[in-house]
Amino acid sequence: MKTVSTSAGLALAFILVVPQVVAADFVSTPEKQDVIEQVDALEQQIADMSSELWDYSEIALLETQSAEFLANILESEGFAVERGVADMPTAFVAEWGTGHPVIGILAEYDALPNIGNDPVPALQPRADGNPHGQGCGHNLFGAGSVGAAIAIKRTMDAKGIKGTVKLFGTPAEETVVGKVYMANAGVFDGIDITLDWHPSSETGVINATGQALNNFQVEFFGKASHSAYDPWNGRSALDAVEMMNHGANLMREHIEPTARIHYVIPDGGEAPNVVPAYAKVWYYVRDVDRSKVLASYEWLNQIAEAAALATQTTHKVTLITGVHELLLNRPLQEAMQANLDYVGAPEFDDDDNAFARELQTAVGIEPLGYPAEIDPLEDDVQPTEGGSTDVAEVTRLAPGVSLYVATAGLNLPWHSWAASASHGRPNAARGASVAAKVLALTAMDFLQDEDLRQRAKAEFDEKMKAQPYVSPIPKGQKPLMPETD
Ligand SMILES: [Zn+2]
Repeated sequence: MKTVSTSAGLALAFILVVPQVVAADFVSTPEKQDVIEQVDALEQQIADMSSELWDYSEIALLETQSAEFLANILESEGFAVERGVADMPTAFVAEWGTGHPVIGILAEYDALPNIGNDPVPALQPRADGNPHGQGCGHNLFGAGSVGAAIAIKRTMDAKGIKGTVKLFGTPAEETVVGKVYMANAGVFDGIDITLDWHPSSETGVINATGQALNNFQVEFFGKASHSAYDPWNGRSALDAVEMMNHGANLMREHIEPTARIHYVIPDGGEAPNVVPAYAKVWYYVRDVDRSKVLASYEWLNQIAEAAALATQTTHKVTLITGVHELLLNRPLQEAMQANLDYVGAPEFDDDDNAFARELQTAVGIEPLGYPAEIDPLEDDVQPTEGGSTDVAEVTRLAPGVSLYVATAGLNLPWHSWAASASHGRPNAARGASVAAKVLALTAMDFLQDEDLRQRAKAEFDEKMKAQPYVSPIPKGQKPLMPETD
């Protein structure tokens, strides 16, 4: 879709018949045409990778088969692969080429717990018994990004283009962990650009920043005793959790409405007749930017301390992870939008649309099928919707740009069984192929266009000058590994 978007265009309207103005026109080069052909040749493989990852559907930090599967494919394509980076067995880096520019492509592959569903338009647990599901479409994300990296490498090789392509296998996006710890460990050092995409129920270039976040737990330590015989000898850790939560709920009135605070109590004692000696509460605090998150986080730490004092318990706060909001880069957004407009939205056939409509009806939304349009790139950054991504960390280490491509029906609820079902259909991979093409084309622009590189870097430097990157987690902190049993 083309848009009339510049003020110069509007001014001209008074004196001329205005030609349609686009933010940036598609620039065609033999290398870009070649990379399109490379992705076309990979289309079946991208679909196969998507369905293999969908079959695995492994959750955060346990994506053993998924990571190994993708790493092996890249290795057989001539990439040098380093596995188990940043103390995470399922994080890897696959690298091909030499010197700058260094193109970074992000791949995700983790599933969400207990929302697995067969690829049918009705609630139906997976026949293979896997409880987990691709409700965020990371099977497509992984396949599309790996497809892009291979296509870029093949074109660079065929056309003798200097530079390096690095595919980052980033686990545990759903727990907002993978890229935070990889950034903290220096895994992204030296990259000149990062490109990524995300499955969606629409298609466009990301132009909103998401929410910054701190994810932390507070443990309280009291003293056990018989709840009826000698409760005065006990000190309840659960009382401390309740007091902390009450404090947080009173705090809500006095923070800006952009803040989001949510908690669960994973551990609140064992039995009513035992004063709980141990209790744990788990919090997320989010806001539109990191400084606001840090202010709320500090306040919540004071509330935790106060709760411990009031209940004569002790406490320990553990910051599990945290992220910034995304740093957008206009020159790269415009380049990507021009490529997306050229490639077009993924095309879904009548069967696909019938499936999508059935699924939309099943979840009680309007049966509109798949979206056919591409969202225009608005001049202004769009208001942030709820949610956080660890991609934000990488956008603060080098200029970055993100795409979203339709892989499920319009307005379908995300992180749901319905999205898991959609992402298991072979044709969902059409979205992954479109993504691979647009990422690869944008990489080619960056490799070939010195002016684009300079403009992207200048904007990045200017924005980062005001807020140099500080990792949300302490240097060298290791990720909490999930318990397996
Ligand atoms: Zn996701």
